[in-house]
Amino acid sequence: LKKYHHILFDLDHTLWDFDTNSKETLTEIFNQFQIEKFTGTSVNDFIITYKKINDKLWEDYRLEKIEKDKLRSERFKLTFEKYQLKNNDLAEEVGFYYVNHSPKKTNLIPHSIEILEYLTQKYELHIITNGFEEVQMEKLHHSGLKNYFNHIITSEAANVKKPDVKIFEFALDKIQTNAQQTIMIGDSFEADIIGAMNAGIDQVFFNPNEQLNFSPIPTHIIKKLSEIKNIL
Ligand SMILES: [Mg+2]
Repeated sequence: LKKYHHILFDLDHTLWDFDTNSKETLTEIFNQFQIEKFTGTSVNDFIITYKKINDKLWEDYRLEKIEKDKLRSERFKLTFEKYQLKNNDLAEEVGFYYVNHSPKKTNLIPHSIEILEYLTQKYELHIITNGFEEVQMEKLHHSGLKNYFNHIITSEAANVKKPDVKIFEFALDKIQTNAQQTIMIGDSFEADIIGAMNAGIDQVFFNPNEQLNFSPIPTHIIKKLSEIKNIL
């Protein structure tokens, strides 16, 4: 009866709690680099502003409008500019701090370990992520997730990003399996679900914020990771 042998997991926002980990790092930055003194803003406003700019830059990166280095250097420069602060040295320093400290954070999405312990008894697990190779490896290592996974496929290694079917084909090839034996679990409707769908892979859409506007309908939809036990 068991149809699947392999599970592809997205990492950020699906297992690794990107928002909490990012917020912790940005709060450290705000305090250590005296951002209030330089910008006159509050930590919450700073985090919201950064997030908006970072999301936009990530979207540009995904669409291949900008490169990795540009993404990293621009996000704090543009955040500071929102507060009329032009200080490229500070932006560089803060950008460096962020890239160094954020991947060492260990907050996970609720039920991550519980569900991985459960799935690892029955399936082979793999990561497929649009993040940078060294950053994603560091996150997996520090958060204790690494040993659950056989193959870790990054867009950087595959040279192509989700939702492009080529990264899913690259993953299936590396794992030495096919789309029928594989299921994808991820929080991004566009990158994870549409991508897997186009590659002929069944999908579990992790939708904790109950995002409503999506089509076509994924194979499964869950609000909590613990619901995976009802499916797999
Ligand atoms: Mg994600």
